[in-house]
Amino acid sequence: MKIEIDQNSGFCFGVIHAIEIAEKYLETHQQLYCLGDIVHNNEEIARLAQLGLQIISHQEFTQLYDTTVLIRAHGEPPETYALAAQNRIKLIDATCPVVLALQKKIRKNVETSGNESLQILIFGKEGHAEVIGLVGQTQNKGVVISSLSDINKIDYTKPAALYSQTTQSLDAYAALIEAIKRQYEARGCAALFHAHDTICRLVANRSQHIREFAVRFDLVLFVSGEKSSNGLYLYELCKQANPNTYFISQLHQLKNLPFACVQSVGICGATSTPLWLMLQVGENIANMATIS
Ligand code: SF4
Repeated sequence: MKIEIDQNSGFCFGVIHAIEIAEKYLETHQQLYCLGDIVHNNEEIARLAQLGLQIISHQEFTQLYDTTVLIRAHGEPPETYALAAQNRIKLIDATCPVVLALQKKIRKNVETSGNESLQILIFGKEGHAEVIGLVGQTQNKGVVISSLSDINKIDYTKPAALYSQTTQSLDAYAALIEAIKRQYEARGCAALFHAHDTICRLVANRSQHIREFAVRFDLVLFVSGEKSSNGLYLYELCKQANPNTYFISQLHQLKNLPFACVQSVGICGATSTPLWLMLQVGENIANMATIS
């Protein structure tokens, strides 16, 4: 049986950067708090927990004093930094540099526009950590647009600047920009609307690649945590390209999959899927093929 692991799957640069910072700190310290899941993958979180990384919620964060806390790749709103200063918490900031640059861009837009009526629109998932961090740059006045139906939240008589969460789909963003543009144009106010291209290409470019990868195999295993929105999105693309695609999060889920009569297996995953887990999946399938 031919087994191949997709070389483009796995952690993006931002997640690798955050994990490396945590690992380096834990080389010389027993323990480190991380505000929220460092990555949406339980297996990787368990591995890092062995090294001393302890995930805490935002509620738990408010109870801490005189300690050190890691900020993950998604970033945080200004309130988190203010609370840390107040409670003498040292922050190790592992916000992805791409997200950090986007936060700064939004903040600068708010500070320099000089226009009180400017609407900052964020295309992203309501409640997602990165989106909360981005909206935080607008003194929480930014409007989250999760889908096309949310465009009725916009006041088309006032100016608007649109930004996207870094992991959104390029196609969905293009459709949203067109829909908003049409509304402004219909009122003769096209100049009031500006859309900024802020989708991270490190993830966006994976969509096309993963479709091409999926069609090359008899069976495809998509390895991801169930909480990863990027994982669920890429899995859907794989499934469309190759209906014989299966979503797994743990090795034991391999047991009941239909490997009989399969000549080739492709293994791929999300930006939050560790390479070591995809390698373990590959080894397990190889072993199963040898035994049967
Ligand atoms: S997807 Fe891009 S912007 Fe988001 S954390 Fe990864 S590298 Fe950074």
